[in-house]
Amino acid sequence: MLAGMGIDVQVTSGGRVNSGAVSVDPTTVASCSLCAKKVEASVGIGPDRTACAPCLRDRLDALSVARFRLQESGPSSTIPWGKVSG
Ligand SMILES: [Zn+2]
Repeated sequence: MLAGMGIDVQVTSGGRVNSGAVSVDPTTVASCSLCAKKVEASVGIGPDRTACAPCLRDRLDALSVARFRLQESGPSSTIPWGKVSG
């Protein structure tokens, strides 16, 4: 089983890797639908939508923080990342 099946990555000035298949295309310009910037590399996250690494990282962090806070924060416990806001 190939790593990255079903995943479509574009690399600026490089090309794309779609489900593990490399196509070289130096004219490729990767862009991110989330921060609306041209980026070094982006990955498809849905029809006509792409995301860059910093945006994905932010969302991964948000996933972890949200899960932790909703699982661990009860009426009697302190909120661990209360100082992280915004
Ligand atoms: Zn982005």
